[in-house]
Amino acid sequence: MVLADLGRKITAAIRSLNNATVINEEALDTMLKEICTALLESDVNVKLVKVLRESVRKSIDFDEMAGGLNKRRMIQTAVFKELMKLVDPGTKQWAPVKGKPNVVMFVGLQGSGKTTSCAKLAYWYQRKGMKTALVCADTFRAGAFDQLKQNATKARIPFYGDYTESDPTKIAVEGVQKFKDENFELIIVDTSGRHKQEESLFEEMLEVSNAISPDNIVFVMDASIGQACEAQARAFKSKVNVASVIITKLDGHARGGGALSAVAATQSPVIFIGTGEQIDEFEQFKAKSFVSKLLG
Ligand code: GDP
Repeated sequence: MVLADLGRKITAAIRSLNNATVINEEALDTMLKEICTALLESDVNVKLVKVLRESVRKSIDFDEMAGGLNKRRMIQTAVFKELMKLVDPGTKQWAPVKGKPNVVMFVGLQGSGKTTSCAKLAYWYQRKGMKTALVCADTFRAGAFDQLKQNATKARIPFYGDYTESDPTKIAVEGVQKFKDENFELIIVDTSGRHKQEESLFEEMLEVSNAISPDNIVFVMDASIGQACEAQARAFKSKVNVASVIITKLDGHARGGGALSAVAATQSPVIFIGTGEQIDEFEQFKAKSFVSKLLG
């Protein structure tokens, strides 16, 4: 089930509470059952769904509650709070600071949308008036530099890369230094991905990270892989200091619940979501408005 459908189902479940003549445990259970089924169909992890259900139930004490309106409101608030726990680890979201160089390194598997998201992030902050540049340290995938170059040129973002150099660390260091010397404020480094979580990928990531000491490491996660997101997020997080997440491909047919469960499991704050292939199909992630949208 795609996210828009999940939202519709949750909204309908809460509405059914409004239509119930009496709001008792039975009505609450029916509503919770509908919400949980919708979450499971969206690929949200079964354990998380169970916790959500129990927490909402526990927080509602029918003996102590007053009239119908109050009950409805309390139940709605409890559902909101639990959904928030799912998507908001409570840590502060990273954002670059103006007037100094902010170095950001992107990691993720090949095909996750890393290169696209690097350009999207650069474009976003460039429009906010930041002096922004891109560095292509992906020497593994043929065509990676051309792709970054193309995106960067279209958006008029300065870029750095090398067709002949095969050492990603060398390119990353040179690129970051060049843009630091030129007083750039946001320097985004795209690193290579592999198809699988291989040891060589993690070694390369660590080497680049140690060499450029990024202010932030962004893990790019493809929502369309569903439940597999969790293991992937855990693997990356255990190797490098992932501080932020970008969830891509939340448009189309992605069942976003897998990605959201991964975020909950690894307690990583999502900073942006990708909602299409174009450079401006990118939204800043705000947990509260995301959940509000789900609740209709
Ligand atoms: P990389 O190998 O991780 O660098 O992945 P790419 O940036 O090359 O992206 C792989 C494919 O996913 C490309 O065809 C992108 O256009 C596409 N893509 C990236 N982000 C999104 C997104 O948010 N939505 C959709 N629909 N496609 C995306």
